[in-house]
Amino acid sequence: MRALVAYKPHDITIEDREPAASPGPGEVRVRIERGGICGSDLHYYHHGGFGTVRLKEPMILGHEVAGRIVEIGSGAANVKVGDQVAINPSMPCGHCRYCLENMRNQCLDMRFFGSAMRFPHMQGLFREEATLPATQVIAVPADLDLGLVACAEPFAVCLHAISSAGSLIGKRVLVSGCGPIGCLTIVAARHAGAQEIVCTDIASAPLAIARKLGADHVIDLGSEPDALRPFTEGKGIFDIVFECSGNGKALASAFEIVRPQGTIIAVGLGGDVSVPLNTAVAKEVTLRGSFRFDAEFGRAVELITKGAVDLAPLITATLPLDSADEAFRIASDRTQSMKVQLAFQ
Ligand code: ZN
Repeated sequence: MRALVAYKPHDITIEDREPAASPGPGEVRVRIERGGICGSDLHYYHHGGFGTVRLKEPMILGHEVAGRIVEIGSGAANVKVGDQVAINPSMPCGHCRYCLENMRNQCLDMRFFGSAMRFPHMQGLFREEATLPATQVIAVPADLDLGLVACAEPFAVCLHAISSAGSLIGKRVLVSGCGPIGCLTIVAARHAGAQEIVCTDIASAPLAIARKLGADHVIDLGSEPDALRPFTEGKGIFDIVFECSGNGKALASAFEIVRPQGTIIAVGLGGDVSVPLNTAVAKEVTLRGSFRFDAEFGRAVELITKGAVDLAPLITATLPLDSADEAFRIASDRTQSMKVQLAFQ
């Protein structure tokens, strides 16, 4: 079976690997069909990692995938051969103190496909087949586009961010940074009842997609750097800001436009950036991080399956695995791409 392996920056190779093992009790073998290139995959591709997370051995990339069941082990009763499935890449241990407190995304022994956070690395799912616990897959309708199903993982990240913010009903929301996570946060915020959603970016192409996905107003800070000033009026007007860019200037400006006692949810990772502490204190702002997801994965699959959200505008290109290098190059160009996916079959 073919797999996409990252060795070091700008060195990814399609390799022949051993076929996926026959599923044991409680396992399934899945033929992977679609896989979305995530920001973390791009970090491995360009920089060999991010922050302290570094490639220390070759690693198969990928964690946003969907596929089809080809073999079932004993006791795996939730799916049958031929089913299309969403695949949850998150495998918390289930018995550490955080898992027991229902904070499974904070698991002390998390195994997450395609992540170099632990060593040996957790190999990823950009491969033609994988054998995994049946509890990681959710069957979806046979006629559903697996490209949309492969968006369940990043959408779950955004649903988790939304749930971290409390009720959005009737709220004024700003989304800062309109990459795939920012765009999916717009969809999630709309679905959660936000009254008004404004979003910002420094490029026009992502903002055009943000508008298609439900933003009421889009602001191009690349061409209009002062365009947020009116929103600082009366100490700020937004109830909730979702900071999805990880940019220090964007975080600082979030404190200017959020209203007193408002909330900033930091979703984007950005290294060490400073916080305007005086503003945070004087306006009594809540700053809260949001990381990965837990039960939101099932909710994401449900919303996509029911057609309650339309994520199609997010996917800007789908390339065969053989063109992985080009796919990663296109995915890195924000002026033309949002979510780029690989087709494995
Ligand atoms: Zn745990």
